[in-house]
Amino acid sequence: MEMKLLEERIMRDGQVRPGNVLKVDCFLNHQLDVELLDQIGAEFYRIFKEDGINKILTIEASGIAIACMTARHFNVPVVFAKKAKSKNIDGDVYTSTVHSYTYGRDYDITLAQKFLGPQDRVLILDDFLANGKAMNGLLDICRQAGASVGGIGICIEKGFQPGGAEIRAEGYKLASLAIVESMGDNGEICFREPEF
Ligand code: 5GP
Repeated sequence: MEMKLLEERIMRDGQVRPGNVLKVDCFLNHQLDVELLDQIGAEFYRIFKEDGINKILTIEASGIAIACMTARHFNVPVVFAKKAKSKNIDGDVYTSTVHSYTYGRDYDITLAQKFLGPQDRVLILDDFLANGKAMNGLLDICRQAGASVGGIGICIEKGFQPGGAEIRAEGYKLASLAIVESMGDNGEICFREPEF
């Protein structure tokens, strides 16, 4: 699909908050526009359909809806990493520590080992990519599982933060549907042309 639609939606309904935070609560992070999510899923399918994906991995909470709508196109299962308050002692889990700038603290993410292994070729999806800390936690879990990463799909990349460049430099196929180049204090948002 024409992902200008996501850019247009960000320009119409996104709100720029102090600290370079973009709020998209009314269609992606709190209220969900399912029609838009369906088109996002179709777009991820167009980009990654030849990459041998047999599982979609994301992180709670906002990644789940994106992952499910995308999985409808791939016909593969979704598994999501949990933001654990404490270490899960209920069975064997992969764990990685993520630093969150938005919340100014570290948190652990966990995934049951039985849901990810060497037989999996994963498409990792998330709503935002900023400093890349959350994505590095998911990549770390894939490494622990021996799973291969077939691609990484992001709805909104903040191109002025280093996560995207670092992950591309590592050689991953990273597709961001909208890349924010800059956000002004007056609310104006500029986009970079996406790669795919
Ligand atoms: P990173 O780890 O790449 O710095 O940040 C990724 C995570 O932080 C995303 O999963 C998202 O939840 C949150 N995040 C980072 N920047 C923003 C932002 O500008 N707006 C919103 N809504 N979430 C953000």
